[in-house]
Amino acid sequence: MNKNIFASDNYSGICPEAWQAMADANSGCVKSYGEDSWTSKACNALRDFFETDCQVFFVFNGTAANSLALASLCQSYHSVICHEMAHVETDECGAGEFFSNGTKILLVSGQDGKISPAAVTHAVTRRTDIHYPKPKVLSITQATELGTVYSQAELQRIGELAAEHDLRLHMDGARFANAVAATGLAPKELTWRAGVDVLSFGGTKNGMAVGEAVVFFRHELAREFDYRCKQAGQLASKMRYLAAPWVGLLESGALVSNAAHANRCAQLLSEELLSVPSIRLIHPVQANAVFVQLPEPLLQALHDAGWHFYTFIGSGHARFMCSWQTREEDISAFGSELRALAADL
Ligand SMILES: *Cc1c(COP(=O)(O)O)cnc(C)c1O
Repeated sequence: MNKNIFASDNYSGICPEAWQAMADANSGCVKSYGEDSWTSKACNALRDFFETDCQVFFVFNGTAANSLALASLCQSYHSVICHEMAHVETDECGAGEFFSNGTKILLVSGQDGKISPAAVTHAVTRRTDIHYPKPKVLSITQATELGTVYSQAELQRIGELAAEHDLRLHMDGARFANAVAATGLAPKELTWRAGVDVLSFGGTKNGMAVGEAVVFFRHELAREFDYRCKQAGQLASKMRYLAAPWVGLLESGALVSNAAHANRCAQLLSEELLSVPSIRLIHPVQANAVFVQLPEPLLQALHDAGWHFYTFIGSGHARFMCSWQTREEDISAFGSELRALAADL
């Protein structure tokens, strides 16, 4: 059996709906650079999804979506506040700072990957003089890097906080569909109704080959974003292949059902993991990730048996991810092997 399946949701392949949409788009010569009908269809499908007249841009990956979105919200003397575990901080090789010409990232803490509003207030108010990089953006991740989901009430609170301190609100939604599936809320309730200005909306981890959408809920903030994308090498000439999968996933409903499947698999996987008494959950399982603490010998035994999953340095924590492609029978097979390995120790 394939022992890579829990390593990351981007280990998964292309889902049938995305594949079909790419095949459908693959007919004849059409206009390039986003002037085609697939791109306008995809933008309109996203406007329907969010029930608002948003501005949409397609880029190749999440790092580009995040860093270009942040750059569009700041001047170089500003700062962006985010959680210390945010992808923007830990996994983008400084792209946010680079594309904004040096905007500083200010880190705040908070339980289970969610920013603490008090920590944000502290970061904004502890200095207001000209020597401190002026806080301008608050960036949150939904679902978070630690597999949790901000509730509607938490988002409302964050939206108010941002308004109170005149901060733009950016959401890293690499796993936004998982948050929609987890909460059962309308996408608008998790975004613009809560004060989100810009969303980096992930497609790759949810069944697409490549691509993320940058969604601006306030038109004035999207000004010249097309130039920013082009300069950063993020304007696809054959845009229809980035856009068509969005049409396929939105029209079929797979966008949310893929994510719901991944979330359900994570619940099943956590039950298998917790069937071993020495394994402990580190964060609540609210989306498609399971974070657990395993005894070191069991962790080693799983790795020796060929299971691939990420561990966070020195802490003994392991992350298991599920995707649209995870199969329930593979979760049970993993559980059986896990229990056998644990019994042998
Ligand atoms: C995967 C991921 C991204 C996007 O990463 P890329 O590799 O640049 O596509 C962004 N944010 C979060 C939270 C992610 O998990």
